[in-house]
Amino acid sequence: MKRIYLQKAKDQIARPATIRDINRRIVLNYIRERAPISRADIARETELQRSSVSSIVDGLQEAGLIEEIGSGQSSGGRKPTLLRIKSGNPVALGIDVTPRCVTIAVADLAGKVVDSEEIPISPDRDFIKSQIISIVSEMIARHPNITDEFEAGISVPGIADHATGEAVYIPYFQWGNWNIAETIAKEFGLAVTIDNDANAVALAELWFGNEKIRKYKNFITVLVSEGIGTGIVFDGQVYRGERGAAGEFGHMIVGSEAPVQCSCGNYDCWEAHASEKATIARYYRLLNSHLPPAGMSITQLIGLANIGEEQALEALKETARYLGIGISNLILGFSPQAIVISGSIVHAWNLVADELQAITEKSVRHDLPKPDVIPSSLGENPTLMGALSLVLARKFASAS
Ligand SMILES: [Zn+2]
Repeated sequence: MKRIYLQKAKDQIARPATIRDINRRIVLNYIRERAPISRADIARETELQRSSVSSIVDGLQEAGLIEEIGSGQSSGGRKPTLLRIKSGNPVALGIDVTPRCVTIAVADLAGKVVDSEEIPISPDRDFIKSQIISIVSEMIARHPNITDEFEAGISVPGIADHATGEAVYIPYFQWGNWNIAETIAKEFGLAVTIDNDANAVALAELWFGNEKIRKYKNFITVLVSEGIGTGIVFDGQVYRGERGAAGEFGHMIVGSEAPVQCSCGNYDCWEAHASEKATIARYYRLLNSHLPPAGMSITQLIGLANIGEEQALEALKETARYLGIGISNLILGFSPQAIVISGSIVHAWNLVADELQAITEKSVRHDLPKPDVIPSSLGENPTLMGALSLVLARKFASAS
C-alpha cells in the first residue's frame, strides 16, 4: 500500500497510454519468466484480451526485445508460435567505474554481454571521460543493429544522485559533481541512468541474480572491495534515500584502531575493518619476520589462503569477523530476508562462511526470523552487471 503524493500524481494517472505501458511490461515479464510461451498462454494467464496481447507482442517484436522460436504443442487447430526474450541484440550500454579500472560493455535484454573493453582508471577525470567517450563511440559503431531501446547505465564508487543523474562525490579521487552522465547523454543522444555501485549491484541481484535471490523482496547487498558499500532492497525496489546517499554503512563504527584508514579519514569505520585493504594490511602485520610480497593483491591473498597458507587464512578470518559484526547491525536494523555479499571474498566463501554465520547468528534473537547470509550470484563482475541493470531493469520494472 503506497501513499499517493499529489506532486507526482499527474504522472501516475491511469490514462490509456499508461495502461498500455503497464500491460506491455507485464507481457514482457511473462515472456522473460515463462519463456517459451505462446500469445494464447499469456492471454490466459494475464486475463488480457487476446487482441491486446497480440498488439503488445507485435510492438515488442518491432522494438527488437523479443523473438519467435518455432511452434509449441497444439491443443487442436494451428500450432501456437512460442516467444522468448531476443538474445544478442544490443539494448544496454554499461559503464562501470571502479577505483582500479573502467569497464565498458554492451549487453542484450537478458543481460548477456556481447562486447566489452576495460581500461585502467586515472585520477585525471577529464582524461578518463575522453577515453570513455572514444570507447563508447567505437563500440556503438561496431553494432549497427542498435535500436531506439538502447540506453546507458553508469555505476560509480561514490554518491550518485539517481534522480538528477549527477555523480555527486567519488571519494577515491575526490571528484565532486562529475558530469559523466550528462556528457554521454549529449554526445550520443542516449537516455542515461547513473547510480552508486552498491545500489546498482542490489538492482542487479534483484533482477539478474539466481532464482533464490530473485525471490527475495527485502534484502541487503554488501559490496566488499577497496571500501564497503551496501544496497538496500525494500519491497522489491532499491531504497536510495535523499540524493542517493542511503546505504553508507561502510562508515558505521564497528571498533577502533582499524588496520587501515577509512576513505573518510577515520579508523573506526566498518570499511577500515573489513574491506580488501584491511585484509591485506592484516596479512602484512601477521607475516612478522617475513618480507611481504610487494604490491600484494586480494586475489593473490585469497589464492594463498585457498592453498592453506596460515597468515592469509588468519587475515581473511579476522576480516570475516568484522564483516559479520557489521552485518549483525544491518540485520538488527532491517530484519531482511537475506544478506548477499559480493566482491573477491566470494572466492574464499568456504573459508569464511562459518565465521560469518557464527557471528551473525548471535545477533538474531531466537524467536525472530534468521536471514540467509549468502554469496552473490552475479559472477566475476558484479558492478558491471549493476551498470547494465540500471538500463535492463527499467525495461521490465513497473514505472511508479
Ligand atoms: Zn569511514
